Amino acid sequence: MGTKRILIGYGIDVDACSSAINTRDGAKPDLTNISRGTFGATVGVPRLLDLWKKKNITCSWYIPGHTLETFPEEMAQIRDAGHEIGLHGYTHEYPGDLTREQFETTLAKTIEIQTKFCGKKPRGFTAPAWKTSPDMVEVLEQYGIEYGECEENPYFVPYGRERFKATDYKNHPGTWMVPLQQSSPSKMVEIPGNWSVDDWPPFQFDPWSNSQGYVDPFNIQRQWQEQFQWCYENYNTFIFPISIHPQVSGRPHILRMHERFIDWVNNEHEGVEWCTFAEMAKEFREGRI
Ligand SMILES: [Zn+2]
Repeated sequence: MGTKRILIGYGIDVDACSSAINTRDGAKPDLTNISRGTFGATVGVPRLLDLWKKKNITCSWYIPGHTLETFPEEMAQIRDAGHEIGLHGYTHEYPGDLTREQFETTLAKTIEIQTKFCGKKPRGFTAPAWKTSPDMVEVLEQYGIEYGECEENPYFVPYGRERFKATDYKNHPGTWMVPLQQSSPSKMVEIPGNWSVDDWPPFQFDPWSNSQGYVDPFNIQRQWQEQFQWCYENYNTFIFPISIHPQVSGRPHILRMHERFIDWVNNEHEGVEWCTFAEMAKEFREGRI
């Protein structure tokens, strides 16, 4: 095996109250979820900032417009600590639920808010819940967004206009036994999203979804380590993006898991660089990884 160069980083979605207010089906927002979101912004964020400072790690934080305008002081702590700030909708709306015009309106507004807040334009967009739409990548490209964390494929993001024939039992199989036709790659770099390295499904209890909440952090740590170790043994270069939320990872036992995982990565592996997703995208675009 040759020289190792591994880029690893945390993408932190500061959903806070936005995803609780946007119930998506017209249901009344759950006040406990809103309270949980407030905990994320006001307690989880500073705890995570302390951890990154202690471990000397710069991260990418994807902040919905609603979070930024509701908790400007906490979000300023992120900005002032030198972390990257990127886009994540206004009230965590799924691009797949929006018309092209609605998506463009939320994108333009959130770019404007973040540009004013940070003094520079955001470079990355994470689709809430990774729910994309066929128009999304084209619109992001038009607005100069350089990379996205939207799908599971690494490299350049396809336009999302793959042509496929949905299976429909009402019709003769001969009408739907057709292979998928890939769409062409865009100019945007994809940082692949992966529920297997995401804190929400195992650690966020939600009685109305398949999130669990009570998984042993040592179990999840071992799963993350096994994924990292396989990649390390089989590739000289790879990226390892992790996705977390302050309201989930800001709790004591999850914070301890992150600390153990970071130490394991650093102490047992050569050639590891902790970086932001924007840096991963830049390294890929410029052909260094
Ligand atoms: Zn989110």
